[in-house]
Formats: sequence, C-alpha cells, structure tokens
Amino acid sequence: MCAKDDLKMSPIAQDHALHPRNNGPLWNYNGHARITGPCGTMMEFWVAVEQDKIKRSSFSTDGCGPSLASGSMATCLVQDKRVEDAVFVQAKDLLEALGGLPKEHEHCALLAANTLKAACEDWLDRNRRHEKNKTGEPSCDTCGEKECAAKSPRPDESKKDFEERRQLQARLCRIRRKVVVLSGKGGVGKSTVAVNLATALMLLGKRVGLMDVDIHGPSIPTMLGLEGEMIQSGEDGMLPVELGGMKVMSIGFLLPHPNEAVIWRGPMKMAVIKQFLKDVDWGDLDFLIIDSPPGTGDEPLSVCQLIGKMDGAVVVTTPQKVAAVDVRKSITFCQRLQVPVIGVIENMSGFACPACGEVTPVFRTGGGRSIAQDMQVPFLGAIPMDPQITEACDEGRAFIHQYASTATAQCMERIIRPIIDLDAVVEKNT
Ligand code: ADP
Repeated sequence: MCAKDDLKMSPIAQDHALHPRNNGPLWNYNGHARITGPCGTMMEFWVAVEQDKIKRSSFSTDGCGPSLASGSMATCLVQDKRVEDAVFVQAKDLLEALGGLPKEHEHCALLAANTLKAACEDWLDRNRRHEKNKTGEPSCDTCGEKECAAKSPRPDESKKDFEERRQLQARLCRIRRKVVVLSGKGGVGKSTVAVNLATALMLLGKRVGLMDVDIHGPSIPTMLGLEGEMIQSGEDGMLPVELGGMKVMSIGFLLPHPNEAVIWRGPMKMAVIKQFLKDVDWGDLDFLIIDSPPGTGDEPLSVCQLIGKMDGAVVVTTPQKVAAVDVRKSITFCQRLQVPVIGVIENMSGFACPACGEVTPVFRTGGGRSIAQDMQVPFLGAIPMDPQITEACDEGRAFIHQYASTATAQCMERIIRPIIDLDAVVEKNT
C-alpha cells in the first residue's frame, strides 16, 4: 500500500485522496456492494435512492490514495444521477474527472467504477422485485414471480415438504444465474475452471457465489487459500466464507480435518447439497457457480434437480480420446435434464512455455472441439497446460487474477467470455 503523499497525482486527485468526500458507511441505503480488486484492495459502496435518483452515496476502502480519490470522485459524479445512468459510469470517466492517476494506479478507478456499478445493480434488483410484488396478485414473497414454483403447495405435497421447498426457492429466487461446471473425469481441471470463472466474474463487479459440491475431493478451499476457514452461523442461515466480493461454500469448510474421508451415500449427499442451497445465506447474487464432482452421478443430479432451472453447464475435458466417452455422457446428462450446455472447454491442451507463452502441442489436441461439433454444442476453446496454473492453485490464488497479464490468462478470459455474457444471451432468449 502506498502513502497518499508519495504519489505524483493531479491537484484534483490529490485533494480527493487527502480529503475524501462521502467516506464511510451510509446507514439508510438501499443498494450496496463490496468488491476486492486484483491488487487486494477492498472497495465498498452504498447508495440511497429516492425516485430512481441517487440522493446520497458513500464509499469505504482499505486502499491507498488513488483508491480513496477514485471512490470519492465516484460518489461526487453520481450525485442526483438516475441509477440507470449511474451504472454506466466507467473508469475512464473517473480518471478524466480526477485529471488522471499514475499509470500503475489506474486500476483503482476501475475498482471504484465496478463497485459503484454493482451497488447500483443491487438497487435495480431490489427495485425490480419490489415492483413485481406491487401487482397485488399472489406471488412468491421473495421474487414476486406469479409463476414461482413455490407459490402454493403441489397436490399431495405435505406441509413440511412445501415449507422446505418454499425456503429453498426463496434462496434461489435471489440468485440470478446458476451455472454448473461438469466433467466426465476427475483431474481434468474442472475446479480450476470454476475458481477462475468465479474470480473473473467477481473482478467484473458481479456478486458471485461459488459452491463446491465435490463432496469427496473438495479442492476449492485450497485453490483459494481458504483452508482452515470455518462456517459461521448468521441470523439467516450459514454464512459462506467471503473472499472479496465472492461467497464460497464447500464441504471442505465443514470437515474437522482436510485428510478426513467422507463416506456418504446418495441420500446423504442430496441432503448436504440441499442444505448448501437452502440453509446458506447467499443473499442476492448475480451468479452462482457450482463445482460438481466428476461424472453424472448423485451430486450433479441432485444439484440440477434441486435448482430446477439451471441457466447453463460448462463441460471441461482434456484432449485425449479416453476422455471422450465421459464428455459425451456429461452432455447427454445435460440434455436429458434440459440444462443448456454453454459449451465445452478443452483443458491442458498443449504446453504453454512459461517464458514466452508459446503453446506446443505435446500430445494430440482437438478432442474437445470434435466432440462439441459432433454433439452440436458450442466449443468454448482450449486452455494450455501452464505450470503457473498449477502454481497458482497450490498457492491458493486464482490464476486469472494472479497472472492476469499472461497469454494463458488472456486465453482463459476469452474462453469464459460467453459465460460472463450469459445475462445477455438468456435475456435475448426469454
Ligand atoms: P478437477 O476439478 O477436474 O478434478 P482440478 O481443477 O482440481 O481438476 O485440477 C487438477 C490439477 O491440475 C490441479 O493441481 C490444477 O492446478 C492442475 N491444472 C488444471 N488445469 C491446468 C492447466 N491448464 N495447466 C496446468 N495445471 C492445471
């Protein structure tokens, strides 16, 4: 972290860094977001909206002078703006208003813009639900949808089952997009994809949950450096472990020792997955990314059945032919359950030189693409084998964040773009 005065900043930026406006929590807010940026700096925004306009806003950060300046300027720029317009405030607008920031601190403006946008989107979401609830007709008390499955009991459904389903639905209604990451085999990089996808979404200012239901090999806590974290109880259920703007839940957090073997049969697995969805206080999320165990067994089935309407599945495979049969099974599994396949990712496809980034095809590649073509699902792309990915996973850091400037991270970003853009795709199709 840098001292405010050590940096060469414009007089305006300097002034905002030394005397930040609207600094500190706002108590009567109706939109809020908190994000941790790639540099480890946390930024938090609160907005109080009246008649669609931002009447008050405030921010807080544990960052340096440029972060303070960016947060402060962001609150000034959105004063009395309509929320619909405020979401479009970008890093370049903040930089322009501040008279620029030192090049190596321009990311602070991006963090401020992303957090502000997330706070505005939080308000827009709440408002949408509120508007739907005003229609007067009976609707789910959480989402306001008249067609919500949890509105009334099904024929033959017991009161207890209905109440449980209603509680589950109340959680799910607050999660905009649910995406499951699947693979035919273990060790192909499914959890790696899930972690990096969730991180990429978080860095874009989305509210993200990452749910690890790989009951027999929960690797997410290790990959995110969260080993030893324990789940706490809150007023509204179990509290997921928070990492920046990401909420993480894993069976790994519930095991007394990482070496503990989990011996659970089907119904118990279903029960714990249900608990992860129903009893965890996920709050309002833009995306829930679910890391499912390999194969097409109890866990992925439970997840899809409990969620009901999954927005999409990403299938991860390796290029080898032996993986092909299992990938086909995963795709057929999705088709049977009517889960749209967002696409297939071929991981460990060639070897990326750590020095120059050039990819050498060590073994045969292209297996993922040909299966995707064959089964008429999109092929999202190939991620090479990169020692820095292994390193990042072992160090408990998301690769896409830690090695953002490498060719492999950029390739990963391109590959997961369609998943990030899912909102636009889903909205177009509905
Ligand atoms: P799965 O979830 O399919 O079992 P993981 O995501 O846990 O697989 O990955 C298994 C191991 O392979 C991890 O140690 C991870 O760091 C490593 N790994 C995954 N993808 C790559 C890659 N493209 N390059 C190098 N190592 C990788």
